[in-house]
Amino acid sequence: MTENRPANPTVNTAGYEVPPELRQNIAITTLDKIWNMGRRYSVWPMMFGLACCAIEMICTAASRYDLARFGMEVMRPSPRQSDLMIVSGTVTKKMIPQIVRLYNQMPEPKYVLSMGACASGGGPFKEGYNVVSGVDQYVPVDVYIPGCPPTPQALLNGLMKIQEKIDSESITKVRWYRKGEIPEIPVPLLGPDIIDPRENAMIKEYTSKPAPVPLAANPQAPATPPAAATS
Ligand code: SF4
Repeated sequence: MTENRPANPTVNTAGYEVPPELRQNIAITTLDKIWNMGRRYSVWPMMFGLACCAIEMICTAASRYDLARFGMEVMRPSPRQSDLMIVSGTVTKKMIPQIVRLYNQMPEPKYVLSMGACASGGGPFKEGYNVVSGVDQYVPVDVYIPGCPPTPQALLNGLMKIQEKIDSESITKVRWYRKGEIPEIPVPLLGPDIIDPRENAMIKEYTSKPAPVPLAANPQAPATPPAAATS
């Protein structure tokens, strides 16, 4: 421990002079470190789950795993009081408008944790008629947890990765202290299929093309070759 001490005992390792009477009582650090320490131990997850992964999330909040040591033990029933959205379960096309709406209602700073194979890429239901192939197609995801379902220990590891991400942020660079509004994500529309309003231009261009003429009604179409004679 003594090798890190500066040669001059009145100067700390950051190079600031500390009066002798205060040397045992004060610590000097950066504003980012203090700011991030407060944030990393007070992340409030939103209380919502989508499928079987949510059962593991509920287990993680039970006493055995002690989420209170991260300051995350009380799940918030409102997106307006939440910092962290844990997407735990299968994301269906019917649910994605609600998920995006909840994400938009969360105040900055906010984080998204994709828990399990379903939320990250569709899982066993990938390419299913009613399932979105990953929630990251609609909201930005900060941490992915693999597994079907991930264990509570895996979720704890994911929560620690969120804390590491918070540690790496600087108060001078984060987007929520910059000028101007942060644009909301357009809420997808549920119709015969899910429609992402961000793709409106592409959908309009595709659907405004004339429909292809059926082959039988097209006089320019090459004649159908005669069927091969069979003996
Ligand atoms: S990843 Fe597995 S456990 Fe989690 S919601 Fe999908 S099917 Fe259920």
